Amino acid sequence: MQHPFRVLVIGAGIAGPALALLLHKAGVEVELHEAYPQSGGAGGVLTLAPNGMHVLRELGLGDRVTASGCAIAQFEFRTHKGRRLGAMSYGTPAHPNDVAISIARETLHFILLEALRDAGIAVHWNRQLERIEQDAQGATAFFGDGTRDSGHALVGADGIRSRVREHVLPDAPKPSFTGLVGYGGVVPREAMDADDAIDSDLMTLCFGNARFLGYAPYGDAKDGGMGWWSALPSAAPLDADTLRTLGDAANLRRLLETGRGWFGPVPGLLEHTIRCLAFNLFDMPSLPRWSRERVGLIGDAAHAMSPHSGQGASMALEDALVLGTVLQHHRDAPQQAFAEFERVRRGRVERAIALGRRSGDAKNKGALAAWLQTRLMPLFLHLGRHSMDWIYDYRPRNDSGSRVFAGDGLGPTA
Ligand SMILES: Cc1cc2nc3c(=O)[nH]c(=O)nc-3n(C[C@H](O)[C@H](O)[C@H](O)COP(=O)(O)OP(=O)(O)OC[C@H]3O[C@@H](n4cnc5c(N)ncnc54)[C@H](O)[C@@H]3O)c2cc1C
Repeated sequence: MQHPFRVLVIGAGIAGPALALLLHKAGVEVELHEAYPQSGGAGGVLTLAPNGMHVLRELGLGDRVTASGCAIAQFEFRTHKGRRLGAMSYGTPAHPNDVAISIARETLHFILLEALRDAGIAVHWNRQLERIEQDAQGATAFFGDGTRDSGHALVGADGIRSRVREHVLPDAPKPSFTGLVGYGGVVPREAMDADDAIDSDLMTLCFGNARFLGYAPYGDAKDGGMGWWSALPSAAPLDADTLRTLGDAANLRRLLETGRGWFGPVPGLLEHTIRCLAFNLFDMPSLPRWSRERVGLIGDAAHAMSPHSGQGASMALEDALVLGTVLQHHRDAPQQAFAEFERVRRGRVERAIALGRRSGDAKNKGALAAWLQTRLMPLFLHLGRHSMDWIYDYRPRNDSGSRVFAGDGLGPTA
């Protein structure tokens, strides 16, 4: 295959567009292939932590995302009766003013796609990857519609059910059910009434009564509202029909209230929910490797983590930043870029996956353990007030402005 260096990216979710934008900026030819038709809107609400927002700023999209989202400065912990247990800041001593942004997934997607269009990067919609072949010069992707495309390297940003992963690791473990079924809904601003008024820069996490429920404002003044989410234990993943029934707002209200009532805003939020979904929560067991020669994985395809970590999208963005940088420096040997990428990233993302599991378990306790948890939480929150700084402080720049990826103690790579 002839130069210029050409990279195929499979999946136009979050990691794929971010990687394509970074590679394009560096003069790399990049093509994106996405299974969905362009109109397939992504649902729900995402919180982008300060480390994820840092990557969006590097892409030149920070202001746009901030203006279309809602700034969340801290998360506050309460019992289901409303007693305040404590709070943690999204800012850190090193970056006190950096906060999280809560935004509709569809809006984030729209902003990323608009940036791709402005950069002139082609996205091929309706292209479901079926299989991959590679040789010493490059990799070829074969799609369900009979088309194919070739590049010097291929990146699977195709999410937790990755088809690219099957090529990288034919015996890869399957996504693992976390034992929780998640529920989430949105209340648009116009559907809220005065009783729903809630502090605008807080994410609130309510524990107790053997249940968990969190809520946070999302979006901007003209197109936003309140998003909420919860999780209930389940011995096995639920089938599609059951999930559809549980996603009904009235049923969720019955499940969550459990007759004893939640404090102030919660009943109102549930009452005014117009859209809600129920979904099985999975994460990925650790993969023995993330690449095979000229084909590599990023984002959920490599290391999906439970939504309880609040980090899946931010880690996908960090991946794009790191791989985008190392690929530029190894144009003649993408396999080296993939190996370096994995060395730099593995320790950090596996720590975040473990965090997501612990956080999920903490929301899935029996009545006695949940009671004890709320008693001890103020102390733990005080002792652990800087326990998230290692995640939020990710800013890979050295004094001269170039990127440094110090993950796993490897020092500068770019
Ligand atoms: C309910 C829920 C709530 C969440 N909330 C948060 C949150 O608040 N904060 C946070 O940081 N993270 C959150 N996450 C996690 C976050 O959504 C993911 O970690 C993130 O989307 C991963 O990005 P990605 O680009 O790797 O994969 P995805 O966003 O899943 O994108 C993968 C893309 O690949 C495409 N694709 C798949 N297969 C093929 C194929 N064969 N051929 C072509 N294209 C294909 C898909 O259509 C999709 O567009 C949440 C997850 C869930 C389930």
